[in-house]
Amino acid sequence: MCPPYGFLYLFYKPNAIMIQEGMAKLALSKEEKISKKLPVFYNPIMKLNRDISIFLLNALGEDLSVGDIMAGSGVRAIRFLLECENIASVTANDMSINAIKSIKENCALNGIEVIEGEYAESNKTKKLLLHNKDARMFLLESGGFGYIDVDPFGSPCQFLPSACERLARGGILAVTATDTSALSGTYLSACRRKYWSNPLRNHLMHEVGLRILIRRCQLSASQYDKALLPIYSFSTDHYMRVFFRCEKGKKKTDDILKEHRYLLYCNKCGHFEISDKNDGECCSAMQAAGPLWVGQLWDASLAEKMAGSGGLMDIIAEEAKVPSIGFFDVHVLSKLMKLGHVKRNDAILSAVKSAGYKVARTHLSQSGYRTDMPLDEFKKILGA
Ligand SMILES: [Zn+2]
Repeated sequence: MCPPYGFLYLFYKPNAIMIQEGMAKLALSKEEKISKKLPVFYNPIMKLNRDISIFLLNALGEDLSVGDIMAGSGVRAIRFLLECENIASVTANDMSINAIKSIKENCALNGIEVIEGEYAESNKTKKLLLHNKDARMFLLESGGFGYIDVDPFGSPCQFLPSACERLARGGILAVTATDTSALSGTYLSACRRKYWSNPLRNHLMHEVGLRILIRRCQLSASQYDKALLPIYSFSTDHYMRVFFRCEKGKKKTDDILKEHRYLLYCNKCGHFEISDKNDGECCSAMQAAGPLWVGQLWDASLAEKMAGSGGLMDIIAEEAKVPSIGFFDVHVLSKLMKLGHVKRNDAILSAVKSAGYKVARTHLSQSGYRTDMPLDEFKKILGA
């Protein structure tokens, strides 16, 4: 049993440091660095990831039972209990006995009672249900969850079948991939092995990576006749993350699979298109990426509800209103057009809007614009 207050904790354990993330207090040992080999995994870079999960759950406002399959220090599960108003229960799991110890200590710091080894349908009393199992076993032995968070260090692929099998009808699946070098084209063979698709190595690589990750998750769900529709997606320097809504049914699943196609890109003129084939001609042979998901990356009304705090979620709310596949990068196009200048941001936005098209900045690139304006017209604006 550990003491409930931070200063007492420090008194008992002088090599610990206290941190606050959101409403959660956490005790971490001083030597902890971000590594897979750590006894207990806490990654400060993932704060934004957890913030967005909480905004999303609160924007949905649904009575979901949460399963956190690799809880690490417990920070996500504790924040869900403290910061999400509507969730039904939180059940956390970690395979590491050190993580279990840390989760219990951190729960005590936050006044959260821990119940070990139980799964519950409903638990409104802000208790944490805690398990010490392989993540896949934890899922398969459960009765299922309304929200499952797959947030591993590396690729999420090995956890997708059990997560998809235990995801409730109407539930939410959240998936993180930190192996962005595979998804965004640095390691072509790793992308093929893990994600069964070909990436692209240019300014569109993060969007292509997200769409490859989405398709991979959808394929895992399809064997259970479950259709995963992305409702929120984003990519940062260190990871990609997608939230899906799960619907059950053969027809709905078939409809999802029909949206798996290729993206073809011409690196001479910057033109790109969606195709059922993995080759095509423009100025010369086009590069092909995919198969990948060509449907929505966001539910625009959900993205709107999550906006308002400034930063990434606000950019995405605007971006979600322009549901294009791919975007134009002004640096890339200005270089292809051999322009001596790059047009200013506000000038581009107002010129595209006054021509009657939708336009928004994208969070995926500092110089990227989503628009329904054709490439040739967009180039005229850049050259003017
Ligand atoms: Zn071309």
